[in-house]
This record gives sequence, C-alpha cells and structure tokens, in this order.
Amino acid sequence: MRVLVIGGAGYIGSHVVADLLRAGHQVRIFDNMSTGRPENIFPDAEFVHGDILNVSALTTALTGVDAVIHLAAKKAVGESMADPAKYAINNISGTLNILNAMAEVGVRYFVFSSSAAVYGMPDVSVIDETCPTNPINFYGFTKLEIERFLGWYDRLKGIRFIALRYFNAVGYDVDGRVRGLEQNPQNLLPIIMEVAVGMRPKMCIFGRDYPTPDGTCIRDYIHVSDLADAHTRALAYLENGGESRILNLGTGQGHSVLAMVQETERLLGRPIAHEFTERRPGDPAILTARADEARRVLGWVPTHSDLETIITSTWRVYHR
Ligand code: UDP
Repeated sequence: MRVLVIGGAGYIGSHVVADLLRAGHQVRIFDNMSTGRPENIFPDAEFVHGDILNVSALTTALTGVDAVIHLAAKKAVGESMADPAKYAINNISGTLNILNAMAEVGVRYFVFSSSAAVYGMPDVSVIDETCPTNPINFYGFTKLEIERFLGWYDRLKGIRFIALRYFNAVGYDVDGRVRGLEQNPQNLLPIIMEVAVGMRPKMCIFGRDYPTPDGTCIRDYIHVSDLADAHTRALAYLENGGESRILNLGTGQGHSVLAMVQETERLLGRPIAHEFTERRPGDPAILTARADEARRVLGWVPTHSDLETIITSTWRVYHR
C-alpha cells in the first residue's frame, strides 16, 4: 500500500516506518520536525516537511495515498495539564484536519495512535477495551475525543479505522536502525537513560504513596517495535475489509517506576541517582492492558517487550 505516516520522523513513527518498509509498503513521511529527528527519516521513504495545522499541505501530501497512520501528537501528560490549548490545537484540531482532508481526497484507511490514558483511573488493574473511559488528564481527553470523532467519520465518510491504545511505549529498534534521541523527554525510560549517561544529575520518582507494593506507579511497558508491528498488521486488516476497531496494545504485565530504575541499574551496572518527590498531577496508580483482542483480531504477539530487551535496546542508543 501507499502509506502516509504523519509523525514518521518521531520516536514511534520512525519505528513504524521501519516496519512498513520491511513489509514492502511505499511510505511517505509527513512531519513538522518539532520533535522529529532528521536521523530518524529513512532514506527509502519519501519525506514531506509539513504541519497538520496546514490543511492545503496535508491535502497535497494525501494525493495518491491508500492509508494514513497518524502519530503526530503532543504526548506529555504533565504538560497537557499545564498547557491544554497546545493539546487541543495539535491533538484535536490537527487530527480533524487530517480526517477532513482524507474525506475530501478519498483516502479510506486510518490508523490512529490512541492511548491507555483514555481509561483514567480504572477500578480494575487489568484493562480491556470494554472498560469505561474516563480520562484524568487532558492528554487522555484529546485521544478519547478523537476516537469518538472516528466513529462518526466511519459512519458518515466511510473512513475505516483502527485506534491503537498504546500503553507505555519504550525501547529502540533491536537492529539499531533508529538512533534519534528524544529531545527534552518527559517519559520515564529516556529520563532514566539521561541520568545513566550523565546528561542530567538525577531523576525524580513522582510519588511513593500509591496503593502499589512499593508505593510507586505501575505501568505496562511495550516495546516500540512490537507497537510498530501492530500498525503494519492493522493496515493489512483494514485492506482485507476489516471493520473499524479500537484495540489495546500492551503486555498485560506491569512494572513499578522503582522496579524500572532498579532493573536499569542492574543491567547497566551503574547507579541511577534518584529522589522521591510529590505525585505528578494526572497519574493513575496502575495501568496494565488486556490485549487479547489485538491478538485475536490482528494476530499480534509482542516479542520484544521483556524488560531486558527494552532497557538494553534503549541503552545502545544512549550509550555512544
Ligand atoms: N515518572 C517518574 N519520573 C519521571 C517520569 C515519569 O516517576 O521523571 C513516572 C510517572 O509518574 C508514571 C511513570 O513514570 O508513573 C510513567 O510515566 P511516563 O510519563 O513515562 O508515561 P505515562 O504513563 O504518563 O504515559
């Protein structure tokens, strides 16, 4: 297929591009390079420098395309609470621009980066897609709103979609094809790595009074190459006539923040300086996935998401 990957120079997007190229797809990247890295742009893909807030640039980029994978979003939970306008404009208005342009040009397939943040603070710790959605941060709200729009664009415009609710994306391509570091990362593992290489003196663990065994938050960490594989499978599913769906992507296994720090210390053989601070606004205590539906619908099975592969593949990119 001819696939437009919006945000294809970003951290997850570049891994998706790698997997699409491996599967023989023709890829055009559309990225405004706000967080995308030039070294993440695969030479075998076409590159268009553009912004999703620019409708005419989007419409031009969609010409001749069969499917869109959209990963160009703001993704920092804490920032979304402090600066909601940035998230409303990029994540909601920007995505609506894409859907409207797709409807106009006649592109029928859409794969959307959604998030476990749509669930908020669920009553159960293992979450399937039928769990009630009730975001407790603005970032999660933007993702849920787009899922709701997608239902309507399917009904009214015939755009078939898969919304992939990522749990915590981590790791780097095990073959070393993606080497771009995230700038000013706000997520846990890149911050741990920046401490490990001395780019920052120490890190903060946000809260140690959560109702979890060690008091720190538990998340479901999924390797980015496993996420990428799910996108390629989602395209094949849509191309084969599959109906629109929302799917969790996680391992079902949770790890605490402290466990992530300690496992990194063990594997790297060096200390990660850390201190415990206040809780970060908008953080649920535990988020882990039930991803049986993605297995059933897409035949998707994570193969890189053990902690050792996650941490060592990331370390190889930071330690150079
Ligand atoms: N976290 C932390 N210190 C940091 C960054 C993150 O303690 O410097 C915690 C955060 O509070 C959450 C977990 O690590 O419990 C994962 O956070 P991240 O931002 O990576 O992903 P999120 O789950 O918010 O999407």
